[in-house]
Amino acid sequence: MITRKLDELGRICLPKEMRKSLDIKERQRLEIDFRNETIIIRKHEDKCTFCGSTSDISNFKEKKICKKCLEELCK
Ligand SMILES: [Zn+2]
Repeated sequence: MITRKLDELGRICLPKEMRKSLDIKERQRLEIDFRNETIIIRKHEDKCTFCGSTSDISNFKEKKICKKCLEELCK
């Protein structure tokens, strides 16, 4: 168990080893949530609204869509 102190602005530093094993790089967007007394932090990845793919994602009318689904849509 690792303990860290919050700084004056409410920030914590995720341990380097943790970032490395979860492949969290600098500027990675994270999702923060909580359940009861537990804070949940997970990697945020853009996913296609239709198939859940995370590659070649673009925006279509405020929804995320992958290249494949976009091509299907344009047939
Ligand atoms: Zn898709």
